[in-house]
Amino acid sequence: MEQMAKRALVTGGSRGIGRAVCLALASRGMRVAVNYAGNAAAAEEVVQACLQQGAPDAFAVQADVSDAEQVRALVAAVSERWGGVDVLVNNAGITRDGLMMRMSEQDFDAVLATNLKGAFACMQAVMRPMMKQRWGRIVNLSSVVGLRGNLGQANYAASKAGLIGMSKSAAKELASRGITVNCVAPGFIETDMTAVLPESVRTALLGQIPLARLGAAEEVAAAVAFLASPEAAYITGQVLCVDGGMAM
Ligand code: NAP
Repeated sequence: MEQMAKRALVTGGSRGIGRAVCLALASRGMRVAVNYAGNAAAAEEVVQACLQQGAPDAFAVQADVSDAEQVRALVAAVSERWGGVDVLVNNAGITRDGLMMRMSEQDFDAVLATNLKGAFACMQAVMRPMMKQRWGRIVNLSSVVGLRGNLGQANYAASKAGLIGMSKSAAKELASRGITVNCVAPGFIETDMTAVLPESVRTALLGQIPLARLGAAEEVAAAVAFLASPEAAYITGQVLCVDGGMAM
């Protein structure tokens, strides 16, 4: 069983949506590598929860995905343990919000480096072995903000829109090798990232969501797990919105 279990790498798996994705993949019998940036205790808790959910193996790996060298070491660590990666979920993401007129170059670069270049580096690092084995699933966490824009989030919107273009390009490049590449675009989900929003912003947001509530990380994870599954073999280059109807 363990030999056959798919090998999943989830970036930013220590909290929020990434944590829920790790657990969803674990409950479907996958082995799970939980990447994190700095919160080792949170990542270790996710590892234990994955094992409880039925993952045949799980472990935590620290790496800053904005650093291509660290990404290569991350993928090497996973390959060393399991011999390869079948499922890559690019979930690690940050915000550095501010109106464009005042946005610093550092805040623009930091968001692009983690959200977009980080995903690029991870995809590039797993691509060759995935092509060789002629099977792979890549799921990238975009955002409704990448589709619609959002005031105060020019850097974040650019990174999330960029992910969509990059995913569609990769989907075309990798399709002949049995690798699918898709995006999930969450709306507003209850995590640490949105916990900082002031009450007035949350109330205003609810007015834009036909289902009139924020989403749960588990609801995003279910979509990711579907796109990562064998059942989704004929779906590639798509953007699946999990947003309560926001972006329609
Ligand atoms: P979160 O609660 O802030 O968690 C972020 C995760 O990313 C943490 O595990 C963090 O690790 C990790 N991380 C941050 N920078 C990293 C780096 N440079 N290298 C490696 N890992 C890094 O975020 P979330 O709300 O779950 O969001 C997850 C993804 O969904 C993001 O890409 C986000 O843009 C996207 N998304 C979220 C929402 C939402 O409403 N929450 C909506 C649309 C899209 P540590 O624990 O070590 O810090």
